[in-house]
Amino acid sequence: ASKQGGRNCTTFFTTEMGDAAIARDKIEAALSHAVLAEEFILHYQPRLDIKSGKIVGAEGLVRWLHPERGMVMPDVFIPICEETGLIDELGRIVLEIGCTQAIAWHQAGLDLDVSLNVSPRQFSDPGFVTTLQDLAAKPGFPHGRIELEITETVLIGEHNQIAEKLRAITAIGYRIAIDDFGTGYSNLSYISRFPLTCLKIDRSFIDQLPASGPIVQLILTLGQQIGATVVSEGVETQEQLDWLTDNNCGEAQGYLITRPLAVGDFERFVQTFAPSGQLGNDDY
Ligand code: C2E
Ligand code: MG
Ligand code: MG
Ligand code: MG
Repeated sequence: ASKQGGRNCTTFFTTEMGDAAIARDKIEAALSHAVLAEEFILHYQPRLDIKSGKIVGAEGLVRWLHPERGMVMPDVFIPICEETGLIDELGRIVLEIGCTQAIAWHQAGLDLDVSLNVSPRQFSDPGFVTTLQDLAAKPGFPHGRIELEITETVLIGEHNQIAEKLRAITAIGYRIAIDDFGTGYSNLSYISRFPLTCLKIDRSFIDQLPASGPIVQLILTLGQQIGATVVSEGVETQEQLDWLTDNNCGEAQGYLITRPLAVGDFERFVQTFAPSGQLGNDDY
């Protein structure tokens, strides 16, 4: 119950402290310590290639393992890290964990793409590209297999400058995905100007299928036009997956396949995953 976990953690922090502002200060102090102590891990949620029925990748999602409070979900602490600037350091830790994991899977013969979330402030940090360069220099770094998920918020600003940064990042060997696609307010003209390889349709649209069908179809067409994979996030029901299969969506991610899993559980999941007659399409 990862979303539920997130809510519980929020109320746990706030009710115990009596006041949200105080709780925030406490979380902030605990977070600076946590960054130093590296109390963070990634859980992984598989990405299903709809046509082949195979797991082709995983999104790394950060969790804070608080020594007393247990697992804290990112919705509780990422916004605070963004505001305080702790995100630069946390972001580096996440990229380091994710890249190290991707190298290990690659060397073990597991054919998986790994996607990692990058927050707006982290992206605009002048040291960001250098961090990516250092990671790409690690032995066994799987060039082209690591995807950075950015939101449309990142793309608001001077387009030439952003395009230049994105090109530098892709030249090093990373791919770029737009996360929560369709929920931002940025000028859509970036779509054809930036080197994007993936659009992740926001869960809110998948949630409203089939009513939201026209929008989802529009995004699928857009993805096809620019040669980007389209991933539907938050797929929870077989009906949603069937709709996406019928409409040629590339990949699906969501609780229907599985919730995000700790690394050991994720590896077991991938090794034993065989789409049932239910999950996946008839050609399989
Ligand atoms: P996101 O990148 O859009 O990640 C998807 C979120 O939706 C995850 O929540 C995932 O557990 C949840 N989810 C996946 N499938 C389903 C489903 O079928 N139904 C529902 N209701 N939810 C589903 P999580 O792990 O709590 O992460 C929340 C957000 O926190 C992420 O949204 C992302 O914006 C941010 N985040 C997570 N890890 C990192 C990180 O390492 N760095 C940064 N900057 N942000 C992160
Ligand atoms: Mg994401
Ligand atoms: Mg998302
Ligand atoms: Mg999201």
